[in-house]
Amino acid sequence: MMKSRMHLMGLMAGWLLAGISLGMDVRAQSSGEKADSIAASRIFVHTGFENASPMNWRIDSAGRVVGSLVYDHERFSRNRAVNHFHFRVEAATGTEVTVILENFDNIWNNRFASDLSERSRFVISFDNQKWESRSIQVLPGGGPSGGAASPGRRMQFKFRMEAPFAYIASVEPYRISDLDKMLAKIRTNKLVGITTIGKTSEGRSLEIIRIGHENAPKRLFLRARAHAFEAGGNWTVEGLVQKLLSNDDDVKRHLKRYCVYILPMANKDGVARGKTRFNANGYDLNRKWDKPADELIAPENYYLEQWLQQMIRANKKPDLALDIHNDAGGNLHISRPDGDIADYLASMDKLESLLRKHTWFTEGATKASFRNPGTLGEGFLTRFGIYAAVYELNYEWIKGLNKAPLAADWISLGNKLPEVFYHYFE
Ligand SMILES: [Zn+2]
Repeated sequence: MMKSRMHLMGLMAGWLLAGISLGMDVRAQSSGEKADSIAASRIFVHTGFENASPMNWRIDSAGRVVGSLVYDHERFSRNRAVNHFHFRVEAATGTEVTVILENFDNIWNNRFASDLSERSRFVISFDNQKWESRSIQVLPGGGPSGGAASPGRRMQFKFRMEAPFAYIASVEPYRISDLDKMLAKIRTNKLVGITTIGKTSEGRSLEIIRIGHENAPKRLFLRARAHAFEAGGNWTVEGLVQKLLSNDDDVKRHLKRYCVYILPMANKDGVARGKTRFNANGYDLNRKWDKPADELIAPENYYLEQWLQQMIRANKKPDLALDIHNDAGGNLHISRPDGDIADYLASMDKLESLLRKHTWFTEGATKASFRNPGTLGEGFLTRFGIYAAVYELNYEWIKGLNKAPLAADWISLGNKLPEVFYHYFE
């Protein structure tokens, strides 16, 4: 009995994983199955797993994978973003694969703006554990004006299959399951308290992790992953938590001085769905901090504000807050609202020099004219009187290490941060 072509197609991925030759597909056709006009491909792209990015894909006439990424849209504006990509290529070991990714026509403040450049990178893993960073080529065309004259808003890269599958991503992925593993590991430590402060718009729990003694003289608040693609913040938190729970002499000294509160993954819905920036309602969680957050549209910010107000009522207002992000610059963003902010600026100068002294940070702070109202940095300062900043980690290149970042580099940053905070609170 001849198996149906559909059934054969369905089995292909399994054969590939088992490393079986594709000869069977050809044999089925030659032994009498009715051929249709579209040849079966030797390459399959899998986008149906945690944090994988939604995208359409096809194999073009040259046998290249062409992936059309799906924009992440902001509500109430024309802004749209694609930075995140994460998928699995399945093909026989040894296959030479060329991938073209398109739709990097981001709209930012109602202008077309691509983040793609020759410095752009991708990461690849043949076992979903050990990743390496590789360079890409920017292709002309594909921009809003179309045609070859349009600036590069497509990328291309090539690789050889070293196993029957290859995981490809924009930055080394950190998924909700990675966070859950960390939470499970630290939950019973007597220096740790984990509080659920609310739920995301899709109902995922939002946790705040406390590390240290509640009555320590100073308090630090960190938020990571407000933007879904920016996994660097989560790796940094991993490194920080690892160090703070190492029980070594340095840490005993640190935790006498301060206690850390962390909202490790603000935009869980975006992470789950492999999106780039906004929450499930198209809300940018690093905007509109100048006003109270809407409970329905931005629950991730609303519950953080509720928690903050509760801390303030309990006389436990954070003394410093950092919102950790990824961008192509790597600066410490110091927003400068009107009013007397001399002491705030002096504190941020101190923070910057401590980061330079104790970590691989060399990029520096934003220039004296910089202001970005509505960011968590400025909102915490003006509304709650908390010294705060947005800390961007460059996801393309770490100047201080002269290399493209991988998780281990951000973990090493997190390992060094406790010493920075110790001296900041001196
Ligand atoms: Zn960001």
